[in-house]
Amino acid sequence: MATTKSKSKAKPKAPQVEPRPAFSLERALAAISERNTPEQQAEMGRLSRLAIGRIDPNSPAAKAKRAKTLEASVLNQIKHLQKEPESELRTTRLRVARDRLGELRAEQGDFVGAISVTHNPKRSDYYEKIQRAIERPDEEKCECPTFQARDGKRIVTLSPRFKAQTIMTPTGPRNLMLCATCGFMNAK
Ligand SMILES: [Zn+2]
Repeated sequence: MATTKSKSKAKPKAPQVEPRPAFSLERALAAISERNTPEQQAEMGRLSRLAIGRIDPNSPAAKAKRAKTLEASVLNQIKHLQKEPESELRTTRLRVARDRLGELRAEQGDFVGAISVTHNPKRSDYYEKIQRAIERPDEEKCECPTFQARDGKRIVTLSPRFKAQTIMTPTGPRNLMLCATCGFMNAK
């Protein structure tokens, strides 16, 4: 800036006709970073590198990747258990392992594969519902009416349909919409 550094109310200088230097991003960034101490600059650099490298460990994509790695070891475990002589313990362990395998497949968006191995009927029902929700056209929804609720002095209209969770599907992550009234689901 070509103005005086003094903050006093001195008479304004005659406008200067000197041309403004062309804007330089590098110079601007250098000027900004000069305001910080070298320690602060180092800390900012470290934080921005961390932010770039960070992937939300709970995102469906991160879970799917982890599940794919774990699936191989659970399959191995099942193979070993199947070679063991029949026993109550073996049966229980096989059931647990199959449910775990189902879970890992569901995390990868393979609900058909999950249903095919899952032992627990409640879980496979749930996977079937999700599979139907994935296949359903996005615009399809239940007929349940909206309802009104009081918010302080206001009356607000609420939909019974809300985003229950994000799930992985064969075509990538989708929002699983759930109706609180009838339980209808659509993944879109
Ligand atoms: Zn409904």
